[in-house]
Amino acid sequence: MRAHPAGALHAEGYGAPAWLSVPADVNALVPGLWSATASRGEDGALRVGGLDVAAIAAEHGTAAYVLDEVDFRARARAFRDAFDAAFADACGGADVYYAAKAFTCTAVARWLAEEGLSYDACTGGELAVGLRGGMPPERMLLHGNNKSDAEIARAVRAGLGRVVVDNLGDVDRIADAAAAHGVRQGVLVRVTVGVEAHTHSYIATAHEDQKFGLSLAGGDAAAAVAAVLARPELDLRGLHSHIGSQIFDVAGFEVAARRVLGLHAAVAREHGHAMPELDLGGGFGVAYTTQHDPLTPEQLAKGMAEVVVEACAALRVPVPRISVEPGRAIAGPSTFTLYRVGTVKDVELDGGARRRYVAVDGGMSDNIRTALYDADYSATLAGRASSAPPVLSRVVGKHCESGDVVVKDEFLPGDVGPGDLLAVPGTGAYCRSMANQYNHVPRPPVVAVRDGVARAVVRRETEEDLLALDVG
Ligand SMILES: *Cc1c(COP(=O)(O)O)cnc(C)c1O
Repeated sequence: MRAHPAGALHAEGYGAPAWLSVPADVNALVPGLWSATASRGEDGALRVGGLDVAAIAAEHGTAAYVLDEVDFRARARAFRDAFDAAFADACGGADVYYAAKAFTCTAVARWLAEEGLSYDACTGGELAVGLRGGMPPERMLLHGNNKSDAEIARAVRAGLGRVVVDNLGDVDRIADAAAAHGVRQGVLVRVTVGVEAHTHSYIATAHEDQKFGLSLAGGDAAAAVAAVLARPELDLRGLHSHIGSQIFDVAGFEVAARRVLGLHAAVAREHGHAMPELDLGGGFGVAYTTQHDPLTPEQLAKGMAEVVVEACAALRVPVPRISVEPGRAIAGPSTFTLYRVGTVKDVELDGGARRRYVAVDGGMSDNIRTALYDADYSATLAGRASSAPPVLSRVVGKHCESGDVVVKDEFLPGDVGPGDLLAVPGTGAYCRSMANQYNHVPRPPVVAVRDGVARAVVRRETEEDLLALDVG
């Protein structure tokens, strides 16, 4: 049995997970989980972008995603600067494609364009948002395992810099679209390298049983390269590899980069075609709770540069221009979800222990990750500070589903009650983008805050919006 810092009162009986300890100060914001401008004000309330959360809630309602623009831009810039610097000597810098699926809207696309990033879309919808936000098409990339003819045609017509070949059939479809539009289309070939990344480890195998990309070991990737080179309408820019998500070290990228560079060098040897680029994908981890300790962009960039430079030297090929595709690591920590507590219920468990359920005005419709991936999140009482002792609590939503959990385990002040504001950090990635209208709960707005101004960059959905789809 682990000794518990707060003694028996809050320990075993509550069944807190081993990683979660009773906070010394339940009001303290856990470092690393919050956006750059978030802090507690003198009155104890959470502030962000120069605004009190009560003011944000009064103006925009709850539940709401509160997006710290300064933080988002800073993370985007940090990736761009770190990768540019780390690869400057080897290949003149690097390109950072923001993975739009993490979260996108036209404001975000504009910020990314201004900060010098590129944009990675995997559907026509994500493409449309990027274009409308003013992202230059040559800095955009379209990937996906099942791109429709319409999506391919739209990408080619819009002048996208790169379209990713994900299967052999893509080669002729993209080439035909390019021929129809009288252009030469830049393409990358997505390679599955047999590296499966997990949160704190990775598995290197020969084959991958998944729907994306073309197998390196099985020869499909080499066949696709040959097919691309046989179509003059296609400009083979390089290979593309993406090994997974929430990765906390460079070991997985190291194995992936070595394997994909092996094919890169073979293409130069066998076809006399030196591909100018190599895309190593995204998947850089973020901290959702105290369990996670992500690398900085500088650490990631330096580690990946060492691996790539060494592998290219061993293969005697020039270092191609490197691209990476962070989504979560830019968007995730920039945003917290602001909820209002509706009900609090203590439930008796087997053995006499009790669990506190704190229910908020959202849930699995605005954050499906807890239910879908068994993800951990944290939460804090946002509208005020409290001197009540911490109680292990479970934050749940309002949906008609017992798996509707937002935060499985968190110590919240014992006096949290109806009307209190609660904030869940790290919800900028894969929350609004995966939001749904389960139970006909309209989706929350995304409220960007900066310099004392809160503005909805995605407005709140209304019942009218939902009913407008219902044509009777
Ligand atoms: C999902 C995805 C990303 C982004 O992953 P993150 O974990 O958000 O960094 C990048 N590239 C590709 C091809 C992806 O599918």
